Amino acid sequence: MKKKSDKKYGFDTHCIHTGHDVLKTQTITPPIYQSVAYPYESAEYAAKLFRYEIEGFMYGRMDNPTNKMFEERLAAVELTDKALATSSGMSAIFMACIHLLEKGDSFLTSNKVYGGTNKLFTDTLPRLGFNPIFIENPSNIESWSEKITKDAKFLYVETPSNPNLFVGDIPALSKLAHENEIPLMVDNTVASPALQQPVALGADIVIHSATKYLSGNSSSISGVVAGSADYIDDIYERDYRNIGPSISPFNSWLLLLGMETLSLRMKKHSDNTLALAEYLEDHPKVESVLYPGLSNHPQHELAKKQMKGFSGLMSFVTKGGLEDAKNVIDSFELIIHTGHLGTTKTLATHPAFTTHQQLTSEERLAIGIPNTMIRMSVGLEDIDDLIEDMDHALSKIR
Ligand SMILES: *Cc1c(COP(=O)(O)O)cnc(C)c1O
Repeated sequence: MKKKSDKKYGFDTHCIHTGHDVLKTQTITPPIYQSVAYPYESAEYAAKLFRYEIEGFMYGRMDNPTNKMFEERLAAVELTDKALATSSGMSAIFMACIHLLEKGDSFLTSNKVYGGTNKLFTDTLPRLGFNPIFIENPSNIESWSEKITKDAKFLYVETPSNPNLFVGDIPALSKLAHENEIPLMVDNTVASPALQQPVALGADIVIHSATKYLSGNSSSISGVVAGSADYIDDIYERDYRNIGPSISPFNSWLLLLGMETLSLRMKKHSDNTLALAEYLEDHPKVESVLYPGLSNHPQHELAKKQMKGFSGLMSFVTKGGLEDAKNVIDSFELIIHTGHLGTTKTLATHPAFTTHQQLTSEERLAIGIPNTMIRMSVGLEDIDDLIEDMDHALSKIR
């Protein structure tokens, strides 16, 4: 922005301007500060900096001017005081969670989370002495409240969830969390702040795999955690500094550019996905389609209330068996087979063989991932081309 002002800017204006002082940098595109250290102007200045009494740049593992621009921009659109960018979505989740826990503590989490998050919660965190408690039926608030004990330090929900598209009730969960004087942490990766602002709905901490829609074109692995100044400052002074999950300034720069078009992209992702979901719903070779934008989705009404669009993640289950699902994946000509989401190009994955391979068949079914499910991340191409590619691939089912 040219001038600091008290004006209340809109979402898109923040996405384009916030964090970058164009006159100070003398550039209209944010510069990349590719430097691991910064000169301290005096001994007194350095001493204050290292006591966290003044704002400034200490060392590349802790801070960087390009990273700070991204953090300010993200905090503005997630309606939090501050944000801290990380090397990946997983490092953001790891740090955000362990920061709230002491040995023996627990937290409650929806069982419908990203495969990597599931492994973090079932493998890594228990080895460190933390006890995640999975909620088997996370749409039922009572199934959360009956599991809360005094050891529970926060509630965790991923909404919409990847890949099973569960939509968690953010206002209801935040009410429950606050009655128990604990925060609600939301993984907002799939919606992005353009479609859902968890803090406006009552959440306290927001996490992103910035690798996905925030970046928008698959150019960098990155993450971010956003929350109150107290929470973020405390992570920054302790765990962030001690663990070292910092983001590359180059990746922050890519995120700054990506965010400029966030809401435009999210609108087209949502429009394309709804059109493809409606096409698949009527297809004779398709068993079922799961998309929060369809009226048969179990949390469609809730999604309509707390989201401005339904994003680009959708899944469908083919008729036939495992071989048929494989045939469909192998027959796409335009749609790319890969384990990723949230980018300009349309992608398809077969969770049973890729992202959720680490789970057993039974574990997968329990979280709603049958063996013939295909997960789509719908991109920004022309919808007619996507439907034609899908039509061709589905014609391979016997
Ligand atoms: C991809 C993803 C993550 C992990 O992010 P990385 O950037 O790959 O580490 C976490 N949560 C959700 C919902 C994701 O889709």
